[in-house]
Amino acid sequence: MLKYGQALKIVLEGARPMESEWVTLSRAHRRVLSEDMVAANDVPYTDNSAMDGYAINTDDLKSVPRELKVAGVVACGKSVKRRLKPGEAMAIMTGAPIPRGCNSIVPVEDTEVITSGTVKILRKVESGKNIRRSGEDVRKGDVVLKRGVVVGPAELGMLASVGRERVRVFRRPAVAILITGNEIIEPGGRLLPGKVRDINTFSLCGLVEKFGGLPLPLGIAGDERVNLLRKMKKGLNSDIMLISGGVSMGRFDLVREALTSLGYRERFWKVAMRPGMPISFGYIGRMPVFGLPGNPVSSMVSFLQFVRPLIMKMMDRPIDLPVISAFLRTPIVKKDNRRHFLRVKLDYKNQKYFVSLTGPQGSGILKSMTECDGIAVVPETTRALKVGDKVTVQLIA
Ligand code: AMP
Ligand code: MG
Repeated sequence: MLKYGQALKIVLEGARPMESEWVTLSRAHRRVLSEDMVAANDVPYTDNSAMDGYAINTDDLKSVPRELKVAGVVACGKSVKRRLKPGEAMAIMTGAPIPRGCNSIVPVEDTEVITSGTVKILRKVESGKNIRRSGEDVRKGDVVLKRGVVVGPAELGMLASVGRERVRVFRRPAVAILITGNEIIEPGGRLLPGKVRDINTFSLCGLVEKFGGLPLPLGIAGDERVNLLRKMKKGLNSDIMLISGGVSMGRFDLVREALTSLGYRERFWKVAMRPGMPISFGYIGRMPVFGLPGNPVSSMVSFLQFVRPLIMKMMDRPIDLPVISAFLRTPIVKKDNRRHFLRVKLDYKNQKYFVSLTGPQGSGILKSMTECDGIAVVPETTRALKVGDKVTVQLIA
């Protein structure tokens, strides 16, 4: 059976980058930059005060306390023309531009007002102190954010500070999601014996959104050719198609057959992993298609291990989930040559990370997903692991 690593390679080798589009800054949150952002100006633009206080020249503070003449007030938003003369100070506000002739700011706490025209400086201050220099955050021409960066709150702020009212981002890949199974009903439907509420539409849509795609739920198709084909056709203009269920070896697993009659070129079926072994991947035209296992945990884990990396690659983002190394609190018995993706809970003690299994790891135990902080990856060749052994944990929060 195909190893996970080989299968992932096949999925990624055909990935094409999404085209880009313009969005206004206020709509850019959570989008992915499709080009490097270069600063059009220095930030800050001018030298300015980091404190409310008095702009002075340290030549006047050879000995303190020292009284200085208050020659003016420098407020934010205006530049001052007047030059500070020997023996003078100017009251200055945080963020206001530094007057010429001044080389330091004395904070208000270190001063005492004598009259409206005189201030007493109580403490010495070093030259250059409390001045934010122009360009100290960003220099004009710097690449402040790289292609592939997700725009979060800090990035929004940075884009604003360099004057980007519009930014170029990757178009979000449209991901069609088709659910299959005669037994599947909508969550609000009447639960009769044998029926199962549709979980995968919701968890898969959530995953697509979480990783920057645009989910397009196509509904539920019964295990019947005509119905499957009709619903699959609705997803043909998407960037990726996910089909949940019907790719196993059961008598009613007709998804691969139906796909084939739509021109599906399957690249693999079945990967040596657990959960998620029966997974089919291929193309219809240039659109990647995944036949994901129907078991809710398998479908989520296969999404995280295959679909997520593909979406990442399509937007030039890092492919690997962040990982940490942690010590096991639960022993693990493994009897096969597959790669296992175990759902674990994380805790931090004495400067070390520990993980314990979330409980039963069956592919139908959805609680193992709601209760986990990460996924421990147990390599193909590993057999038993003892308490205290180290495992690699993917963080999926
Ligand atoms: P399948 O992959 O079609 O053989 O389905 C495997 C198991 O997952 C069966 O027990 C199905 O009832 C269940 N299942 C399939 N699709 C869903 C779904 N959308 N929501 C919840 N359970 C599902
Ligand atoms: Mg089924």
